[in-house]
Amino acid sequence: METAAISIKESHLDPAQAIYDTRLPAGEPGLYEVNKGQTLRIIDLEGNQAADVVFFNRHDTDEHYSLTETMLHQGGIYLTTGSVLYSSDSRAMLTIVADTCGRHDTLGGACAAESNTVRYALGKKFMHNCRDNYLLCIQQSDSGLSKADLVPNINFFMNVPVSAEGQLKFDDGVSGAGKYVELRAEMDLWMLVSNCPQLNNPCNAYNPTPIRLLIWD
Ligand SMILES: [Zn+2]
Repeated sequence: METAAISIKESHLDPAQAIYDTRLPAGEPGLYEVNKGQTLRIIDLEGNQAADVVFFNRHDTDEHYSLTETMLHQGGIYLTTGSVLYSSDSRAMLTIVADTCGRHDTLGGACAAESNTVRYALGKKFMHNCRDNYLLCIQQSDSGLSKADLVPNINFFMNVPVSAEGQLKFDDGVSGAGKYVELRAEMDLWMLVSNCPQLNNPCNAYNPTPIRLLIWD
């Protein structure tokens, strides 16, 4: 049983005015610069996708998104409009300013060879996963990020309700085609994304699909 309300807030920003507009194909990783004061929109183009994201301070990558700081500050576990994403130094990194999905997870983590093995079967170990996506992406970048910098992430559009007994449930998505979340950057950031390639989990309806990223000044 879970009863937390879903709140919806639309944005009036015009995609034609965006300074950056890209499409990240199903299953692919990406690393993006977002500057303080810019607004970032992530769109779930076909619905029921999970976008696994970690943010870093671009000038000091030791400072990263912290799910514990974020949950403590807001006194809750789900992310939606009004949620401030806090860093490991307890500073505001981004604020969610609009959200037509209504709920995003930060407890479920990113899928990995290890989680594929534990959750599904030994034979699933070598399937494409978010952690390998992160590693490949940062290795090919000039960000200076390394394996040691990977920390628990945000799963945008992913539905992980927590039961009354305190158990996590990886559930069918609450997102749908065209739903989006919009965030204002409170510092200069790296945004590391794995557009989840998972084929064994209802979080993305067993069917990875593309997302679109927009940035406004
Ligand atoms: Zn994944």
